[in-house]
Amino acid sequence: MRQFSRRSFIAGTAGLGLAASMPTVRARASGARRVAVFGGGMSGLVVAHELAERGFSVDVFDARPVLGGKARSFGVPGSAAGGRPELPAEHGFRFFPGFYRNVPDSMRRVPFPGNPDGVLDNLRRISAIGDQDGFGGAASSGPGRSIAGFLPSDAPNADPGRLDDPAYLRELLKESAAQFAVTPMDRLPGEMADFARCVAVYVTSSTQRRRAVWDNVSWWDFLHAAQKSTYFQQTIANMTTMGLVAVKPQICSVSSAGNIVEAFLWNVLLPLPGPDDAPVARFLNGPTSQVWIDPWVSELRRLGVRFHLNYRLDALSVDGARVRGARVVDGSGTARSVDADYFVSAIPVDRATGVLTAPAVLRADPSLEGIRDLRTEWMNGLMIYLRQPLQVARGVLGVLDHPWTLSAVSQAHLWSRGISGYGNGQVNEIVSVDISTWDRPGMTTTTKPARECTREEIFTEVWATLVQRFGPYDPSLAPANLHSWFLDPAITFDGGVVRNAEPLTVQTVGTWSKRPKGPTAIGNLFVAGDWIQTNANVVSMEGANEGGRIVAQAVLDAAGVAAEPVVRYDYYVPPQLDGLKALDAQRLAAGQPNIFES
Ligand SMILES: Cc1cc2nc3c(=O)[nH]c(=O)nc-3n(C[C@H](O)[C@H](O)[C@H](O)COP(=O)(O)OP(=O)(O)OC[C@H]3O[C@@H](n4cnc5c(N)ncnc54)[C@H](O)[C@@H]3O)c2cc1C
Repeated sequence: MRQFSRRSFIAGTAGLGLAASMPTVRARASGARRVAVFGGGMSGLVVAHELAERGFSVDVFDARPVLGGKARSFGVPGSAAGGRPELPAEHGFRFFPGFYRNVPDSMRRVPFPGNPDGVLDNLRRISAIGDQDGFGGAASSGPGRSIAGFLPSDAPNADPGRLDDPAYLRELLKESAAQFAVTPMDRLPGEMADFARCVAVYVTSSTQRRRAVWDNVSWWDFLHAAQKSTYFQQTIANMTTMGLVAVKPQICSVSSAGNIVEAFLWNVLLPLPGPDDAPVARFLNGPTSQVWIDPWVSELRRLGVRFHLNYRLDALSVDGARVRGARVVDGSGTARSVDADYFVSAIPVDRATGVLTAPAVLRADPSLEGIRDLRTEWMNGLMIYLRQPLQVARGVLGVLDHPWTLSAVSQAHLWSRGISGYGNGQVNEIVSVDISTWDRPGMTTTTKPARECTREEIFTEVWATLVQRFGPYDPSLAPANLHSWFLDPAITFDGGVVRNAEPLTVQTVGTWSKRPKGPTAIGNLFVAGDWIQTNANVVSMEGANEGGRIVAQAVLDAAGVAAEPVVRYDYYVPPQLDGLKALDAQRLAAGQPNIFES
């Protein structure tokens, strides 16, 4: 095995072009330490960013030839023509809810020409679905049961001073719950009132109850969904989990789904004190890698980070309670060893399990055994390219009753550069669809689950469903307007076997204690990623970013470096609820339920 030579990598990356020199945002710590980060997705890039700003010497190794992980965008092979770049595609559309705070903080620190707030200014801010700049949406709960255009947005005004009054809180949540039902014709007052009660239970639950009780209960059982209407099951139970994080409500823990609902709720009802308040939804104004990831990588290079692409972490060499080195394997199968003071795994759980549960690693930190019980599911994107932009059903599209859990975002009116500047110049709209359930039967053109379909069958089912549901409202959703389509290349079809190279971790019931905390019992080994224990507790870019921050701080602590602490943001929760949460902690200790549990 050849020893890794940093000098050769410096030489190898010298021609890639560094960003113009600019002042460092944070004070650099004295006494550089060497950190090897494995995985250059959101989490790994955050670790690199925070530590490079504090004077650490950082090397990032990624198994792929491109950085950004699941958040990256990429070109459709063979689609470039006439000097234009390839049509842009992505693993899944990028939605930045208004309650995200860690991701925006990282984005603000990435310079972008003409933007005072760096790549953060590349996010389009959407105050509401039905925004004045024409961002609409469309939702369908069955054939002939769709609405399209500008959805209603009349969230009630919350009075923060009265949130500690249980009667007021319950009324406020009841009024707000009606907004979550999406299609006005289907609102079910009794069921939505009970949903509001469940939300009241969660938002007034103490941290202790969330960990000890709600992590062990499914979202489905918590909402008593089995006793409710199909519509409630599809919109409230299913879409709050499947549509956002690809986990079925029957197995998603309340402590994960509840966090999503809680964060959305306060983002809608209360402005965040200070300058960081953001509207409900934000989307990028161009392909993700172009307007975010690539400028980020340039900034990290400027800070001295070295990137080694096509290097897969294969094994760690553990001696007692320390990692002595790591073995990486390149695209040709050649192994090399990596020497560093600190080792950070920022790779997805499905790739990390083999490395982190090797016998020598487990001997030093038996708690990592829990990783074996973590689960992944499939959530992957299908790109649909249209000749003319959507006119009415543009914005967020959701087919609530489709067993494949279909959601989409149309991008023409979000992007600052015209879409016709890509491909052969004939595409003027991109509908980026997430398929979040792959093991349930289709319903429009096939009864097979997506996992058993061919590429063409998957496209046909999704396209036919969109045309059936929204075509009557929007003439652009018609076969004559279709240019082409492209399925996420992570999905491969080999000899009749369909595989997914990039599944998503799902936060199932009872898994909090099985997830790594960031630092491990091995003094110089750290685990980052969207799947470790975070306050966000949701597999997302925000969770991955927070995980990166936890690890960066842990490395600082281990190194004993007196640098500016790594800031870690929680989503905003009104402090007026602290009293009810303290009461809940007392009731839990006394064996009593939350005050809103009936
Ligand atoms: C379809 C879909 C849509 C989504 N939509 C959203 C959204 O709208 N908003 C949102 O907030 N989140 C969304 N997410 C979730 C979000 O994309 C992820 O949670 C987040 O990007 C994960 O970041 P990460 O760094 O933890 O992991 P990853 O992004 O998976 O990055 C891990 C990196 O490690 C590399 N790697 C893997 N194995 C090795 C190895 N052995 N050695 C070295 N490198 C390795 C990979 O190549 C990759 O670059 C979506 C996810 C999916 C799948």
